[in-house]
Amino acid sequence: MAAQPGQVGYSIIDAKSIDAFMPSVFPPVVDDSLEGLAGQLGLDPGTVTQTVGAFNAACRVGTFDHTVHDDCHTEGLSPPKSHWARPIDTPPFYGYSLRPGITFTYLGVRVDETARILMADGAPAENLYAAGEIMAGNVLGKGYLAGIGMTIGSVFGDLAGRSAAEVAHG
Ligand SMILES: Cc1cc2nc3c(=O)[nH]c(=O)nc-3n(C[C@H](O)[C@H](O)[C@H](O)COP(=O)(O)OP(=O)(O)OC[C@H]3O[C@@H](n4cnc5c(N)ncnc54)[C@H](O)[C@@H]3O)c2cc1C
Repeated sequence: MAAQPGQVGYSIIDAKSIDAFMPSVFPPVVDDSLEGLAGQLGLDPGTVTQTVGAFNAACRVGTFDHTVHDDCHTEGLSPPKSHWARPIDTPPFYGYSLRPGITFTYLGVRVDETARILMADGAPAENLYAAGEIMAGNVLGKGYLAGIGMTIGSVFGDLAGRSAAEVAHG
């Protein structure tokens, strides 16, 4: 998706599949026809129907089961859809415009246990503290658990605030 113009991609879902995944916070664009959906998304209807038609023709539908890696796949598409491939053919059609984002950088400044920033020589700064995303790399090397961004911000925010207040009050 990052390689697309403007780094925007579009996800199109039909009525068969809309309840097969966790609903988005944001409602999709809905239309009874692919052409109408394309128009609402600001896309060329002919290009969308051609793209969806090519996807549908590439589908090799076996026994659909979205709870396992089923045998529904595409042939001749790049990249292939390895599982859960079904023609997008049952109205109404739903569309989302999507763009990539960065949830965590895993980088930032180093801190000690009081949230004091560790300088380049490894020594703690006297009066410089960090909390939240800027120091989350101290906790997260890779991957994450749900809610850990907020947790890191709250825990280290509390620490940093207390530590800074102590310094300020001498
Ligand atoms: C798509 C996405 C989904 C996420 N989902 C979750 C989730 O479900 N649960 C969870 O716990 N965490 C989640 N996170 C992570 C979480 O949102 C972040 O870790 C958290 O918001 C970081 O908070 P922060 O205050 O440290 O930094 P930020 O929220 O990035 O705040 C930094 C602020 O500093 C401002 N700023 C930057 N430079 C300057 C400057 N020079 N002068 C003045 N202001 C400046 C910025 O504009 C920004 O407002 C998600 C993150 C993303 C991107």
